[in-house]
Amino acid sequence: MESSQEQFGTTSSRVLVINHNLKVLDVEQREHQQIALHPGWNEHDPEAIYSNVVICLEEVSKRNNLSSQNVKAIGITNQRETVVAFDRETGKALYNAIVWNDKRTSDVVKQFSDKNNGNLDVYREVCGLPINTYFSAVKMRWLLDHVEAVRDAHEKGTLKLTSGKHILTDSSNASRTMLMDIHQLQWSDFMLGEFGIKKECLPEIRVSSSDNYGEISTIACVNGVQITGVIGDQQSACLGHLLKVGEVKNTYGTGCFILKNVGAKPVQSTHGLLTTLCYSLGEGQTYYALEGAVEVAGAAIQWAKSVGLLGAVKELESLCYSVDDCGDVYFVPAFNGIFSPYWRDDARGLMIGISLNTTKGHIARAILEAPCLRTAEVVTAMAKDSGYQVTKMNVDGGMSVNNFVLQSQADFTNVEIVRKKESEITGIGAAIAAGLKVGFWANIEEVEKKIEIDRSFKSDITESQRDKKLKRWQQAVERSLGFGW
Ligand code: ADP
Repeated sequence: MESSQEQFGTTSSRVLVINHNLKVLDVEQREHQQIALHPGWNEHDPEAIYSNVVICLEEVSKRNNLSSQNVKAIGITNQRETVVAFDRETGKALYNAIVWNDKRTSDVVKQFSDKNNGNLDVYREVCGLPINTYFSAVKMRWLLDHVEAVRDAHEKGTLKLTSGKHILTDSSNASRTMLMDIHQLQWSDFMLGEFGIKKECLPEIRVSSSDNYGEISTIACVNGVQITGVIGDQQSACLGHLLKVGEVKNTYGTGCFILKNVGAKPVQSTHGLLTTLCYSLGEGQTYYALEGAVEVAGAAIQWAKSVGLLGAVKELESLCYSVDDCGDVYFVPAFNGIFSPYWRDDARGLMIGISLNTTKGHIARAILEAPCLRTAEVVTAMAKDSGYQVTKMNVDGGMSVNNFVLQSQADFTNVEIVRKKESEITGIGAAIAAGLKVGFWANIEEVEKKIEIDRSFKSDITESQRDKKLKRWQQAVERSLGFGW
């Protein structure tokens, strides 16, 4: 008996088939195009993502003889903050999806910054987030200001920022919009007023990610199967790691996102982190997180490959180990600004410290060390915000298969890094949410027994080596700030 699960990532969509032992039996994946009409913009075609998901479902269904008879439930996990506007009457998207890492909204941010005397933290008490191009509300405001069809539908009352019969979202996704009251876990009238967005255009928020979100009725191979898990990708990874209060996870995908479960009450950050949902499985099981968002992780590898600086990802680990250290080369991949803890749109990427002795190995190290050094900054901010050190970090995501990356992470943070045997932790989280609702697993304890550890990494360097490294990194980051417009 299978629990099927689908995932929308930044670069691809995949459908996983997960069994009762939490083993991934099969995966089908389709990449979608990153549409960059202007520098700093990034759009996805929502119809292309939908048809990719349908194709993936059909493929895994064929291979595994899946149907509503043997699929227990479907859980969905998705890229967060990304916005799609739909017309309720036609069901059609009115514009491409504006992706989380799209920077077109810097004018909207400036407008709100000016209105609040430059204080970007003015809404943190309500929504937990600073004003930044990253979050959904500023993207919605941009759509309303620049796309006539969206503005008209908003006025007519036919605008939907989601589509379908059941217009629902969960608290983890809603916590990334700036429009949800982080304490009440419902849309905030105050924030809606600030952004000029009508509540009727937004989906209803279900607090629990493990709930009845509707039944599939338009995809023949799985018609009749219930969707009982809906959860943002980073929160899904938290659930996949079964993150307990005080524990931390880091997912290294396109960007990397470090979340710490801080318990049943939100914790405000004074060190540049975000206050957000960790995950909710319903009454008495709602956990908040402090999050450090690192805008670029694997995206730097993709960029380096595209300009011919690096070759196949499989060779990266041995390339990094072909040299003893980074040769004093640092790469700050702030291609379009920098997130936690700086939140500076004017940062730009740089590579510094290059000499005639610099080899490809040094450059590879600099590129792979960068997200680990950014993570070290986040871990320091977490200790300051919560009053105690992080000692262990659960990891997953595409880059976490790389042992060099995880050893570097242990070295730069002096935190034990723990990798699970299963790499698709984000997908596992959505499956857990979906499976718990339909009784596929009785409770979290039953699920916990099925998750196995692969390997752990501990620091191999001295404190003074670490200090030196972090200081050098800091010098590089300082030089990247303020270079953009
Ligand atoms: P997302 O869900 O954000 O689309 P993934 O979790 O699938 O991302 O991770 C993809 C990233 O992982 C890519 O940027 C890729 O370059 C990187 N990656 C894959 N394999 C390796 C490897 N062996 N070493 C380092 N990075 C890797």
